[in-house]
Amino acid sequence: MEKIATTDSLTRLFNRGKTIELLEARMNELPHKSNKCAVAMLDIDLFKTINDKYGHCVGDDALKLFAATAKQNFSASVDMGRLGGEEFLFIFQGVDVSETVKQLETFSQSLKDASIKALGGEIKLTFSAGVLLLTEAQSISSVLEKTDGALYEAKETGRDKIVVFTCL
Ligand code: GH3
Ligand code: MG
Ligand code: MG
Repeated sequence: MEKIATTDSLTRLFNRGKTIELLEARMNELPHKSNKCAVAMLDIDLFKTINDKYGHCVGDDALKLFAATAKQNFSASVDMGRLGGEEFLFIFQGVDVSETVKQLETFSQSLKDASIKALGGEIKLTFSAGVLLLTEAQSISSVLEKTDGALYEAKETGRDKIVVFTCL
């Protein structure tokens, strides 16, 4: 029952509710451990055109492939959730920003390779991401706003890239 209530049925990643719950828990752990924590919001690029061109079923297959490839790429310490649609939130523990970006870049390449192989040779899935290093607990809305801001910048400046949130 617990598993069903916390799992996204299409991708088998955590659903939105569980993802937010985990984010809250990870932030509450921050003062107790000398634990570093980073959050990434990922959004698949130009996903609507995949649906429009190849149909909703292929779109669903692309979402499943994104999730399966992510599960293969990241260690079990990375919490991976689907916020909705083609948007995801990944929570990294014990890593700094440069390590997080490095892991996301490796995933990006694996996703390109896997999608070309699995989705009929024509579709190369890419994503844009906004990354935030969590050094202290803050509101969920603040975390989502910051990661979303960095993600927006990644989209605006060409997509298929990772932008780290920085205070100006
Ligand atoms: P951008 O690079 O700016 O993110 O462009 P985009 O096309 O990815 O973004 P947009 O928000 O325009 O489109 C997202 C699309 O995702 C629209 C919606 O129909 C589709 N979508 C959302 N959830 C699902 C799903 O569960 N299955 C399928 N097949 N499509 C979905
Ligand atoms: Mg998108
Ligand atoms: Mg989106």
